[in-house]
Amino acid sequence: VSWGGSAAFNGRFEEAVAWMRARVPMTDDEYAALQARARRKAFTVAGIAQLDLVSETLDALTAAVADGTTFEDFKTAMFEKLSAAWGDSKRAGSRLETIWRTNLQLAYSAGRYAQLTDPDVLDSRPYWMYDAILDNRTSGLCRTLNGTVLEADNAWWNSHIPPLHHRCRSGLRSLTRDEARSRGITDEPSDLEPSNGFGYRPDLDEWQPDPTQYPGDLWDVFESHQMERSPRLTPAQLPKDRRVPQDALLRGASPEEVAGAVRAWLANERPSHNGVRVTLAADEDAVRRVQRRWERLCRTNGINPLAAQINRTDRAMTMFGEIVLMPQTVEDLGGAIGLRARGARTLMHEWWHAARRDTAPFYPLEEGTADAFADRMALLAFGLRPRADWRAYNDLYEAVTLIGDALGADNWYLVSRTEPDVRAWLRASLEDAGFNTVAVGDVLGYTRDDSVWLTRVRRMIATKE
Ligand SMILES: [Zn+2]
Repeated sequence: VSWGGSAAFNGRFEEAVAWMRARVPMTDDEYAALQARARRKAFTVAGIAQLDLVSETLDALTAAVADGTTFEDFKTAMFEKLSAAWGDSKRAGSRLETIWRTNLQLAYSAGRYAQLTDPDVLDSRPYWMYDAILDNRTSGLCRTLNGTVLEADNAWWNSHIPPLHHRCRSGLRSLTRDEARSRGITDEPSDLEPSNGFGYRPDLDEWQPDPTQYPGDLWDVFESHQMERSPRLTPAQLPKDRRVPQDALLRGASPEEVAGAVRAWLANERPSHNGVRVTLAADEDAVRRVQRRWERLCRTNGINPLAAQINRTDRAMTMFGEIVLMPQTVEDLGGAIGLRARGARTLMHEWWHAARRDTAPFYPLEEGTADAFADRMALLAFGLRPRADWRAYNDLYEAVTLIGDALGADNWYLVSRTEPDVRAWLRASLEDAGFNTVAVGDVLGYTRDDSVWLTRVRRMIATKE
C-alpha cells in the first residue's frame, strides 16, 4: 500500500470503515463554519463547492478503506473531475495524495483509538506513547512530540491524538505500566498545538450533523447517498436520524420486517382496526397482480373496475381491506432510518382508510383525517414531529385541525371512525357546537377541490355565535 508503514495503521479495520462511513460530506463554506472539534466528523475537499463531488470523493475514500483499493485507483477515479473543478491539473496530483493520506490516516487512527480504549486493553495497557516515524520528512511538531508518554486519560491526549496535520504519519502506541516506567513518563508534555481540525479524540466529538441545518431536501439526498455507499450496513448499524428519536420499530432486516413491525404496533394501538391485510408491491409485476385481483373483486361486487385503477405516482392504495404499498414506499422501508419513517407513515395513513366502517366516506374529510391520523401515530411510534412535506393533503389536514379546534378536541376524528354515518355524525356535532346550519351544510357538501374545502371550513368557523 502506498501510504507508508506507520504504527497507526494497525487499527481495527471495521472501526476504520465505520468511522469513515459516519463522516458527513459538506462544501467548503459549510465546513468553514464548523467548530474545529466538529471537523473530525465532517468531510470536505478544499476548493470544491459542489456537494455531489465532495460526496463522491468521500465514497471513493470509503471504498479505499473498506476494499483496500490503492491510491492509484483513487487517483484514476477522481483525478479528472477534481482537477477540472479546481481548474488546475498541475497540482491536482499532489492535492489528491494529501486528501488520500490524510483521510486514510484519520480513519485508521480512529480505528486504532477504538481498539486502545477498549476497557480490557486500557486495563492492561493504561499508558500511551506518541510514536513518530523519524526521517527527513518528519515535521518539527511530530519530532518534538515523539516519545511523549502519558496515562491514556491525561487531558493532553484530548488534543494530541495523531494525525496532527496533513500527511502526518505518527501513531499511538499503548504501554503497560512497566513499559511506561522504563521509558520514562513525561513530566511536562509539549504545548505545541496540532493543525486546525486535527488531534481530537474521536470519541470526544459531540457533534452530530444537524438535518435542520441542511438546506431543503439535501438531507434526504445525503441519506440516500449514505445508504448507497453502505449497502452492507446491518439494520443495527444504520445511522441514527435525529428527526426520528424512537427508531426501534424501523430497524428490521427487510422492508417486510419493518412493515410487519409497524403493522403490529398499529394493531395494538388501534385494535378495532385489525384484520387489515398489508401487501408490499416491490415492483411493477407485483402492482399489476394486485390490480388484476382488485378488478376481479370489483366485478364480483358489482363495482366499476375503474375504481381499482392504481395510480403509479401514489405511494400506497387501499381497497377491499387490503393496503398495497407501492414500489417507492417499499424502497423507503428498506432505506435509511428517515426514509423508513416516511414509509411507515404512509402505512399509517392507509391504515386509517382500511379501518373505516362508513361505506360512503366523503373525500375531503377522509383524506384530511388520514393525514392527521398518520401524523399522530408517527409522533407516538417514533417521536417524529409532523412534517408538512410528507403530507399528501396539507389543506385538508389544516381543515381537520381547524375543526378540531372548533370542537375543542384535537382527536375528534378518532371518534368519527366508530360512526356508521360520518356525515350525519359530523353535522350533529358541528350544529351542537353552535355553527351556522347552512355553513355546516357547505362543509359537508361535495368537493374534490382541497382549497375550496379549507375555505368552507374557515367560513363555517367564522359563523359561530
Ligand atoms: Zn389517503
